[in-house]
Parts: sequence; C-alpha cells; structure tokens
Amino acid sequence: MDVPNSCEHKSSHEIIRSVVELCGDCDTCRYLMEETCLFFPEFYRLWDREKESGIPITEAELRSLVELCTLCGLCPCPKIAADLMEAKSRYIDREGLSLAVRILTDVPRLARLCETFPKLINALTSNKAVGFLLRKVAHIHPKRQLIKIPEQNFFQWTAQKGLTSRRDNSHNVAYFAGCSAGYLFPQIGQATVEVLEHNGVNVYVPPQECCGMPHLVEGDRNTTLRRVQANMGNLLESLQAGDDLVCSCPTCGYLMKVLLKERAYYSEAYQRSVNAGEDELKVPKSPQGRTRFKVLKKSMYKDILTDDGYFSSLDPMNRIDLAEHLFDAGEYLARLHSDGRLDTRFAHIPERMVYFAPCHQREQKIGSPYPDLLTLIPGITIERVEGMYCCGMGGNFGYKTGFHEKSLELGSSLMDKIRELAPQSIITDCMSCRLQFNHALPYPVFHPMEILARGYLNRRNSLSRTDSGE
Ligand code: SF4
Ligand code: SF4
Repeated sequence: MDVPNSCEHKSSHEIIRSVVELCGDCDTCRYLMEETCLFFPEFYRLWDREKESGIPITEAELRSLVELCTLCGLCPCPKIAADLMEAKSRYIDREGLSLAVRILTDVPRLARLCETFPKLINALTSNKAVGFLLRKVAHIHPKRQLIKIPEQNFFQWTAQKGLTSRRDNSHNVAYFAGCSAGYLFPQIGQATVEVLEHNGVNVYVPPQECCGMPHLVEGDRNTTLRRVQANMGNLLESLQAGDDLVCSCPTCGYLMKVLLKERAYYSEAYQRSVNAGEDELKVPKSPQGRTRFKVLKKSMYKDILTDDGYFSSLDPMNRIDLAEHLFDAGEYLARLHSDGRLDTRFAHIPERMVYFAPCHQREQKIGSPYPDLLTLIPGITIERVEGMYCCGMGGNFGYKTGFHEKSLELGSSLMDKIRELAPQSIITDCMSCRLQFNHALPYPVFHPMEILARGYLNRRNSLSRTDSGE
C-alpha cells in the first residue's frame, strides 16, 4: 500500500529529513542498494556518523544527498524516490537551474543547433581546445566519450517518408520515439518503424517533445509538466482516433506508464468513473484493471490516499488513460506474436549476444519480452544478464564532472559480468545504458528492434537474390 504523501507543507530540507528518518530506521536498503545506487551508501554513511558520533547531517549534506538519486526506480518504496524528486524540485524552485543542466537536458535544442551547423558541432566536440571549453561550460567530464550527433534525425526521416500525417480510415500505431531514438540514435526509430511496417502495421509519428524525464531528475518541475502535458494531449488525440500507442524507450515508458499515473487512482474523477460508493475508495488490483478492485474505507484513508503527487496538477483521467494504453514496443510485438500476427520468418543471425534489461524496463512490470522475441531468430544465442544490475549512467548523470567516475564505479559489476560472457554484441533497449556500454566496453551495442529489423532485411535480401538467380 502507498505511504501517505505528507510533503505538501514541508520545506525541501524537511522532506529529505523525513526520508532520512524513515530509511534510517528501516535499514533494508543498506544492503539491498549497496551496489546499484549512489544515494543509499552515502546516506547510510551519514546516518551512521550521526548515530555513532552525534555529528548531525547538515543541510548542505542533505542538499548533496538528493543529487545522488537518478530515479532509476530500483528501491522498494516509490514514495522515497518521489520525495527525493519533490525535494530536488523545491531546491531548484529556489536556486534556479544552472546553465550546464540546461545544456545537458535539452536534447531537442542541441539537435536543432546541429541541424543548423551540422559540421561545426562535430568539429567542436572533436577539436581538443574548443571541445575542452564546451565540456567546461556544460560540466562534462573530460574523459567522458561524447556522442556524435547524426546529421539527419529520426523526425526528419519520418517527415520525408510521410509518417507525420495520420492515415485516416486505417488502424495506426502512434509511435513515440523520444529524444534518444529521435535525435541521438535515429537508427532505432527507423528499425522500429521497419519492424512494425513489415508486420502490416501503419505507423504514424505524432508531434512529440522530450518525455520530460531529464528535466524531472534535475528538479525542473515546470519544464517537466509542460512537456508531459503536450505529449499527453498529442498521444490521447491519437488514442481517441483509434490508434495503438507505442514507445521504444524504457525511460519514456517508465515516466508515462508508471510515474504519471501514481496516485491518480485516488482522484475524485477516477473514483466517480468506477462508481465508488460514498465511503469507498476503489483501487485497481491489476495495472490495467477496471473490473477488480481493492475496496478501502474512504473515511479511514481519505486524508492519506489522495492524488497529491508530482503530476497531480494534470488531469488524472488523462494520466490514467495514457499510462494504461501506452505499450512498450517489445510488449506490443509480443502481443502481435501471441495473436499469430508477427512474421517469424527471419534470416539466420549466427551471433552470440547478451541482453540486458534496463532498470526502467524492469520497473514497468511487463516481463522481459525482447529475449523471447529475439530467440525466434534462427542461429542467434541470447544470454540474459540476470540479477539487479545497473549500468550506472543515470541518463545525463554519467556525463557530469562530479559523477562520471562514480557512474563507472556503479556500473562496474555489470561491465565485469558482460566481459565474463564476452559476447559478440550487447542488446539493450535503453539508450542511457548504450552510452555507458559504448564508453566502457569494446562490444557493439544494439536496440532489440535493430536486430529484429536486420533479421527481416537479410531475409528479404536473400529472397531477392534467389529470385534474381544470383
Ligand atoms: S526505500 Fe523503503 S525499503 Fe528502502 S530503506 Fe527506505 S523505507 Fe526501507
Ligand atoms: S530511485 Fe534509484 S537512485 Fe534513487 S534512491 Fe532509489 S535506487 Fe537509489
């Protein structure tokens, strides 16, 4: 059951202090999160110092502590991470955002700059002197490998292909690519479109902005809410027109499928929609459930189970609608497969690959559809990395001067594990993990959609060679 949201009248310092008391007494994450989170080890160090030597945790230490949470979602209590984000937002409301954070979080703006000066940007990042200056302004660690921004982004490609207009009178998938497939790795967006189209699905790419997660983790509440509101409007318009909603990035999915609907079920609008009685609070038993409920006494819970979380200023029914109807791309393909609608005739790909399910995919509680789909490809060997590993990148965090080393340290057990398996390539659906793997390991990294698209393409090519008698 959710813990009450008691942050409304507290300062950022008071919010973190209550997290400190709660997690200090509980102690569960001292060992559970020892190797997969930067927040808990530092927190327990300060907590032990306070208890053992009586030196209290200072306000400055609490302020730094909150920066260590990357909202990976792995710790057992969603309330704790939500409180840390709330505290961070309140600090930023007071302090404002640094230029470095503004540069790092605005991928669409960076991409627009690259559209205007395509050669200049890559020259800037490779030229030692100017590159150094650029890193200094953006607080990027000197040793962190920078991404090469592609000259054509996914949205330009979709515009050329005519995918930005809905095809009326037909069933479409409205595809949310997010910034990573949209601007940084357009090959992922293209592969997703190719796989869906290969299976007879019309793809429509509605207008879209960054999902908001980079802004959320930096404490920029206004930008987060603005982005989420815009995406929600566009995607729900597609849903109302009869489209299925699909996204290929687990972080966008985690925000829109999990975080967005948190506490929305307690809203009056939702309670009315499920005909809750006068003294009832109906909470769905399953994620998409409108038929089976846990029924609680409203008189007992009405003050603690309320829609008062981070997204409560947005319409709760819209939040629930989007969260309940958005599919992860792997989840969507698995559905096509179970309905017998997925073409399973792939070409042989005789390679040994390691699949890593990223934190934000695991936290969506949709199982792990990609390894099963990938093993439909003849000749392929997929080894899963089991266990609670994290790549340590934390979105933009791994770029930052103060976090680069820590981020590599956090991801080191996962990197060791993958080195032990010595695959020919790594498969993961998360672009943040991909950046970290690219930095730390020698193996090529792909999104599962790229491998599935390759399986279809190679088969088409071999069929056309046979037809032409080669
Ligand atoms: S996050 Fe939850 S389980 Fe972990 S220490 Fe805090 S209260 Fe305990
Ligand atoms: S959300 Fe992730 S980074 Fe934040 S406290 Fe929980 S485990 Fe640590």
